[in-house]
Amino acid sequence: MLGLMQERPLLISGLLEHAARYHANTEIVSKTCEGDLRRDSYRTLAERSRKLANALIRMGVGHGDRVATLAWNTHRHLELYFAVAGIGAVLHTVNPRLFPEQLNYIINHAGAKVLMYDITFSTLVSELRPGLEHVENYVAMTDGGHMDGMPDGSLCYEDMIAPEQSAFEWPVFDENTASGLCYTSGTTGNPKGVLYSHRSTLLHAMMLCQVDGLALSNHDSTLLCVPLFHVNAWGVPHGSPLCGAKLVLPGPHLDGKSLYDLAKAEGCTFSLGVPTVWMGFMDYIEGSGLDARSELKMERVIVGGSAAPKSLMRRLESIGAVPRQAWGMSETGPVATVANPLFKHNELSDDGRFDLRCMAGRPVFGVELRLMDDEGRELAADGVTPGELQVRGPWVTSGYFGGEGKGPDADGWFSTGDIATMSEDGFVRITDRAKDVIKSGGEWISSIDLEDAAMRHPKVAEAAVVGVPHPKWQERPLLVVVPKGEAPDRAELRQFLMGFVAKWWLPDDVVFVESLPHTATGKLQKMELRKQYAQYVLPELAETSGRAAE
Ligand code: ADP
Repeated sequence: MLGLMQERPLLISGLLEHAARYHANTEIVSKTCEGDLRRDSYRTLAERSRKLANALIRMGVGHGDRVATLAWNTHRHLELYFAVAGIGAVLHTVNPRLFPEQLNYIINHAGAKVLMYDITFSTLVSELRPGLEHVENYVAMTDGGHMDGMPDGSLCYEDMIAPEQSAFEWPVFDENTASGLCYTSGTTGNPKGVLYSHRSTLLHAMMLCQVDGLALSNHDSTLLCVPLFHVNAWGVPHGSPLCGAKLVLPGPHLDGKSLYDLAKAEGCTFSLGVPTVWMGFMDYIEGSGLDARSELKMERVIVGGSAAPKSLMRRLESIGAVPRQAWGMSETGPVATVANPLFKHNELSDDGRFDLRCMAGRPVFGVELRLMDDEGRELAADGVTPGELQVRGPWVTSGYFGGEGKGPDADGWFSTGDIATMSEDGFVRITDRAKDVIKSGGEWISSIDLEDAAMRHPKVAEAAVVGVPHPKWQERPLLVVVPKGEAPDRAELRQFLMGFVAKWWLPDDVVFVESLPHTATGKLQKMELRKQYAQYVLPELAETSGRAAE
């Protein structure tokens, strides 16, 4: 027997109209690429999105067509989030920090028909254009006064929407219709497209607003430091209109000072971003001697996208915020786990609860997790046994766009490529990416744990650990350090690490460098480092073989 309840589809246009109706005057503040600070509200966001929807249809954008963006976090990019998905087309957000060859590949693979770009990317668009196979319309996301220097034939966003009606009847269609397309950075092989649906996006947005999710609410003023081109900015553009949270968009300015000034001026209570962004933020605060605790109203900070060193989490506490990690990937919506301690953890000391918040977190409702060994057997969730993390749920991918790559198995379990432990309560600790783990004599050494320990040393600004070849142990850890000022003494640094990790984990050597390579989303580029140190000869081996270490 079927229930007798309405089957209203979960559509992204519903989020926008809900906010326009019930949170009409809540602000959306945006630092634009033209340089000014713009104030919108959910009412004006909805009006402008409807105008844009009319303009897109006039341009010939139809159901299922891909509209690509090369854009920062601004009001116009947000309007595209709602207008494109709202008419049943697919918003294809592209990471402008990738190499031009990768960008051409991605935009062609997606078959994008329109390319919307911020004026800061005019040169990039001119460079990409000869290689773009399907793009029919180029639109500069600006007003008539800033069209100088834009690639020939580009349309002007403001001119395009100005004559349109602000009334628009959003079409109603199947909630499983595709709404967004994001490509993973492709650390191995070609980037692969993850195709989100209206349904997955709305369920994910509802989860963000749960206390056990990100607790996003209309009490929040959210500083969105995650780019709109990075996995739907972790779903915040959709969660915010759902609950009526104020949105603060930093535009192209993600440096510490710009973020601080904006957070202060807009009374931001909540923010989220990758560790590199937070490092820049904290460096600015500490370097300028600011009293962030009294100047900011920041209550909660989510750190995700890659492992956050504990030292960084502590620094974030100093501004008066409660920092938490969250874990996920493009293929998981992205938010799958959030480090929200349980009620029973109130019994723990402050340090105990802090340690829990430094873990990847526990699954939010809807997300199922399990750990597997190499032979495909499920491992115990005992908090100590590491295995490959698999995930399934209503906002987990069922296969890549174009059918490439390896999707989930027949039961929906998707292999994440992350190595983790999991407690009985489901608290996950990511110990490594499967390809980054250091295999020493049949045992595994966690590069993340070693990096975390190294970054607690006062003279270490950033650290990375990679495995280098060893004839007896197969691989041994090499610690690559960006020193904070004067480099620490190698022996003293090893001694320091002994306080945190097993003796046999200690790196066999330490190399000091000026900077470490990062991916387009600000993660340590381990593959690049591994390549760089593939032939590295450890000092103890150099002595025996007579070869000098590099
Ligand atoms: P890409 O693979 O394109 O960088 P994602 O943004 O999807 O794209 O990255 C997902 C990966 O980021 C995860 O599989 C995991 O390795 C890493 N990651 C995300 N959050 C965390 C976290 N809190 N701790 C450790 N690693 C994380």
